[in-house]
Amino acid sequence: MPELPEVEALAGYLRQRAVGRRVDRLEIAAISALKTYEPAPTEVAGRAVVDASRHGKFLDVLFEGGLHLVVHLARAGWLHYREAFPATTPLRPGKGPIAVRVRLDDGSGFDLTEAGTQKKLAAYLVTDLAAVPGVAKLGPDALAADLPTFTERLRSRRGQVKGVLTDQSVLSGVGNAYSDEILHAAKLSPFAITDRLTDAQLATLHAATRQVLGDAVERSLGQRAAELKGEKRSGLKVHARTGLPCPVCGDTVREVSFADSSLQYCPTCQTGGKPLADRRLSRLVR
Ligand SMILES: [Zn+2]
Repeated sequence: MPELPEVEALAGYLRQRAVGRRVDRLEIAAISALKTYEPAPTEVAGRAVVDASRHGKFLDVLFEGGLHLVVHLARAGWLHYREAFPATTPLRPGKGPIAVRVRLDDGSGFDLTEAGTQKKLAAYLVTDLAAVPGVAKLGPDALAADLPTFTERLRSRRGQVKGVLTDQSVLSGVGNAYSDEILHAAKLSPFAITDRLTDAQLATLHAATRQVLGDAVERSLGQRAAELKGEKRSGLKVHARTGLPCPVCGDTVREVSFADSSLQYCPTCQTGGKPLADRRLSRLVR
């Protein structure tokens, strides 16, 4: 799932490549992906792309006249920039991976795609960003938050730090993958309770958040356009590395599974060497 660093890179690429170009046509292939009906997609035609930015994990493409195309890529969504499209005929609504296509006046453009059968990608055409429900309730940006803001936000919600850090209304931009990486870098258990974290632990967590996200943004921006086509990540130390050695201490990276997600951590670095209880596993054993 694209998080802050990947969405930042996509926005950066659009700023370089699409800003200044005029839209020929915006096509909706997955009707259910477009969550707004006013203004109509035809309203975008003829307008120039004036900016591309990010709000948490939302991508925001701004057109002339203050019209925004805001997209949440969900778990399996991505943006593919095309130097040219194979055909000029409009997309037919159907079951393919393309949800939205934006054709620009130089023949290039981009597709918003979603793999798999679970269609969760959400696109909004709005003149007011506050009209996008997910954007309206976003907390401060995880990469931009200073230490006092970060501390205040984390302490505003009592719960397991993994859950609080990924709650978009607390801080925006961090999801399942980068929260595993941030907690590993901060040497904190994902199950540590936020209101028991000391000032020193919160300062470490804040520094780890900036470091991990900052490095990932840099790596993502460093990818050439041709490589900007999948959310395959490099440089991760624990996330999606169950069973592999921790690059910091050599211990085996472990996993805790939930109904539809999992987290990875290093016992030596994060939990005093003690493996966390995996409820799914203990149920099976019992
Ligand atoms: Zn380790």
